[in-house]
Amino acid sequence: MKKLLTILLTLTLVIGLSAVGLAETYTVGTSAGFPPFEYVEDGEIVGFDMDLMKAIGEEMGFEVEFKDIAFDSLIPALKAGNIDVVAAGMTITEQREENVDFTNSYYSADQSIIVKEESGKDISVLYGDNDVSVQTGTTGDLWVTEKLADKGILTGDIKRYDTFVLCVSDLVNGNVDAVVLDSPVAERFSEIRPVEIVGIIVTGENYGLAVDEGNTELLDMLNEGLRKVNESDKMAEIIDKYFK
Ligand code: GLN
Repeated sequence: MKKLLTILLTLTLVIGLSAVGLAETYTVGTSAGFPPFEYVEDGEIVGFDMDLMKAIGEEMGFEVEFKDIAFDSLIPALKAGNIDVVAAGMTITEQREENVDFTNSYYSADQSIIVKEESGKDISVLYGDNDVSVQTGTTGDLWVTEKLADKGILTGDIKRYDTFVLCVSDLVNGNVDAVVLDSPVAERFSEIRPVEIVGIIVTGENYGLAVDEGNTELLDMLNEGLRKVNESDKMAEIIDKYFK
């Protein structure tokens, strides 16, 4: 009897371990200059999107590893097969949907205009000969380019950087007059840097996780995991952790 129990226990252990060993690992691309969704802390990529991906992985039985890539290169990396998923506060847009497939939305945002604290500047920085900074390839970049620069409303320079962290540094150093970026991220920057929000542009954006076009198996798994995370307390926990 004792022997049988030992055999059974050993078997359970072996099966258990092989299940762990067999768990698929997905490489998740992000651009870690977008707090609180993704940022670097003590050399590690952390944030809302990382916790969300880990929670989905726990629900669906896969592991995740993160790769920090310039925002503008995330979709090309997905297309090239260097990453499996994009989790980067990426807005679901028609243009992006031509190349990738998005999950259901997990967060919404608008655009905000931030200026240096006590600069006395207001929303009028978006008109005339002012310099505005944006992160390359973002919806903020697109909005400033199409709605302001192309129409001749903004006649100063658009300074594009790989991360909003660099845009905000340029703002604090007095090299640009404003930065246009997603509202939750603008709010976080206004708490940690000497910058303030002077206006909101209601764009009604929705964030989705992205996979390569046609990767239905992974897309379905992510949507199923997202649904489970939403239904459990986990989503509320993650929101609480990053937006308090
Ligand atoms: N939501 C914006 C976009 O998709 C910005 C995302 C980001 O900078 N990480 O373009």
